[in-house]
Amino acid sequence: MATEVCIHINEIGEIKQSEQRVCEECVKTGDRWVHLRTCQQCGGTRCCDSSPNKHASKHARASGHPVIASAERGERWLYCYPDDAFAEY
Ligand SMILES: [Zn+2]
Ligand SMILES: [Zn+2]
Ligand SMILES: [Zn+2]
Repeated sequence: MATEVCIHINEIGEIKQSEQRVCEECVKTGDRWVHLRTCQQCGGTRCCDSSPNKHASKHARASGHPVIASAERGERWLYCYPDDAFAEY
């Protein structure tokens, strides 16, 4: 793990991966998404800020869960919303 990251990313041990490759909010409403992100606190997978509904960042603000991992194939990185910190793993 890189050293120049925030305390939230440093606290992450095992990376939570998405169980289903869908945004759990968009599937309820039939909306579309662009990329998927998995919350590292509760393990929920939601859509990125390029998606119309931006569920991942809405969830982070509403819940206080700071760190997401990309749920896209081949991408191995973490992002912390409150600190705007990024780390590859
Ligand atoms: Zn942080
Ligand atoms: Zn969504
Ligand atoms: Zn969460």
